[in-house]
Amino acid sequence: MTVKELKLLRKRIISTISELQESDIYLEEATQPIAPSVALGRLTRMEAIGEKSVNEARHIKVKQRLEGLGNALQRMDDGSYGSCIRCGNQIPFGRLSAVPESLICVPCAEKKRR
Ligand SMILES: [Zn+2]
Repeated sequence: MTVKELKLLRKRIISTISELQESDIYLEEATQPIAPSVALGRLTRMEAIGEKSVNEARHIKVKQRLEGLGNALQRMDDGSYGSCIRCGNQIPFGRLSAVPESLICVPCAEKKRR
């Protein structure tokens, strides 16, 4: 990976983090307990509960991505970014470009899946 590619990825990670932080704030609100006193009809209350659980799942994903991206930035600083944590090979730029927080290369990811 070239210095230019690394810079590009860093920039992308930073902007993705700020987008995710906005979603995080929104989802934090959207996953607050639904007050029983809220005057909702039975069906709309059910809907609100359904929506809340969808948002909770989203919130978990957002938090996981934020953590992964934060770690990626740390690895950029200590120079270990872009190496597979399993086999030590370089992770191709194409994969990092699609998923900048990738920790393992494609062959290792496939082995893991089996
Ligand atoms: Zn690997």
